[in-house]
Amino acid sequence: MPRYDFRCRSCGATFELRRPMSQSGAPAVCPKGHEDTVKLLSTVAVTGTASGGAAAAPSGGGGGGCCGGGCCG
Ligand SMILES: [Zn+2]
Repeated sequence: MPRYDFRCRSCGATFELRRPMSQSGAPAVCPKGHEDTVKLLSTVAVTGTASGGAAAAPSGGGGGGCCGGGCCG
């Protein structure tokens, strides 16, 4: 079962949950009971290469990355 990392925005704690992939987007509750949590991305499929190389997407593209990928002609 995949493991997901979450961070609590109320107390700043990070914690892990194991849950089915079908529930990967379900809300998580921090061990202290806070519900204001965010799911952290694991180290896969992060934009760009490892560190520092990921330039911000040029503005005006709508954030979809289309014009950066050569699909706009
Ligand atoms: Zn918390």
